[in-house]
Amino acid sequence: MKEFDYIIVGGGCAGLSLAYELEINKKLKDKTLAIIEKRAEYKKDKTWSFWKVATHNFDDCVKKSWKNFSVNIPKKTNYLECTSYPYQSIDSGLFYEKVNNKLKENENIFFFKDINEINSKNSFIFNSVPSIKKDHRNLWQHFYGVEIETQNNFFDDEIFNLMDFDCDQRESTHFFYTLPYSKTSALIETTWLSKMNDKSQKDYDNQIKDYIENHLNLKNYKITYKEEGAIPLFYPTYEETKNKINIGTAGGMTRLSTGYTFLNIQEHSKYISENIENISKIKKYKISNKYQYLDEIFLRVLEKHPEKMPDIFFKMFEASPKTVIKFLSNKSNFFEDLSIIFKMPKITFIKALFY
Ligand SMILES: Cc1cc2nc3c(=O)[nH]c(=O)nc-3n(C[C@H](O)[C@H](O)[C@H](O)COP(=O)(O)OP(=O)(O)OC[C@H]3O[C@@H](n4cnc5c(N)ncnc54)[C@H](O)[C@@H]3O)c2cc1C
Repeated sequence: MKEFDYIIVGGGCAGLSLAYELEINKKLKDKTLAIIEKRAEYKKDKTWSFWKVATHNFDDCVKKSWKNFSVNIPKKTNYLECTSYPYQSIDSGLFYEKVNNKLKENENIFFFKDINEINSKNSFIFNSVPSIKKDHRNLWQHFYGVEIETQNNFFDDEIFNLMDFDCDQRESTHFFYTLPYSKTSALIETTWLSKMNDKSQKDYDNQIKDYIENHLNLKNYKITYKEEGAIPLFYPTYEETKNKINIGTAGGMTRLSTGYTFLNIQEHSKYISENIENISKIKKYKISNKYQYLDEIFLRVLEKHPEKMPDIFFKMFEASPKTVIKFLSNKSNFFEDLSIIFKMPKITFIKALFY
């Protein structure tokens, strides 16, 4: 069976981002790479959005970017600016096409459906397939989104809504998220932060229909695309192996308080590419301990007091938007961290230290 210098298991966001980074930095000129991806074909299946706090290779896959956003709870709306760090939405269909076209140019890159088709004993492996047990105690971010088109102009496409908590909470944390791509099209998602086995929240089509028709007061529209997913709000655990690095969600690249992963994946890919010649000796790349610690406390509060979360998220955005964005994107300094911490209900958070 054929052997390769490197193997990437899972050709999704992290696997392809890493392969692309290696390829454009000419790290695969004299090395071979096998990408193991089980899907039969690539098509748009996700929309990756984030505040652009760092450069990345996929500006040409951005579907839309915004400099204004809003957050709201019943009877209160906060309008915020994000001029310094625009919010971008990447179309995964464009991303897959761009990366796969580039990778096809290199004869040292090979694609397989199953790792058993090759000999992986002597290769260095980058694994993006998480082995996550569906543990009922763990928190997940579940979501279901639809892209809709309207006949007449309806949306203000200069501003997106990050979190609308003016909806049924069902003893969990629930919000809607609206990204208007144009005056006549938008992605609208229903998002739950809750346990995996909470089936009572899965009437997604009804939630979306009710939100569009009775909350946004939009009657004439058609659904053109749907996406559904769940992001684990905990880190998968693995045995450390000398010839293997986990990447993507499997590699702990998700910010647990928000689910944001895309930009962390890009930064991890750059780190690996820069150090590929020394890959078995480098320090593990991770989201810094301070965010891991603060997110853990935040999630304890979320689990114990879901009813308080709309107010807590709303209050967080009463700090300067630039500070909140940096904090949520792992770029804040000590003083910026403090200004967010001071916005939190102190007694609730202090108690959470001892749960
Ligand atoms: C619907 C959705 C929307 C999201 N939106 C955002 C967002 O807006 N912003 C953000 O920052 N993050 C977002 N995330 C979180 C995160 O960015 C994505 O999940 C991202 O795709 C994670 O990349 P990954 O490579 O770890 O996983 P994936 O992209 O899921 O890639 C894993 C790949 O492994 C393949 N695979 C699985 N099992 C095997 C196997 N046994 N053998 C071979 N291949 C296998 C899969 O087919 C897949 O292609 C979203 C997640 C989902 C699910």
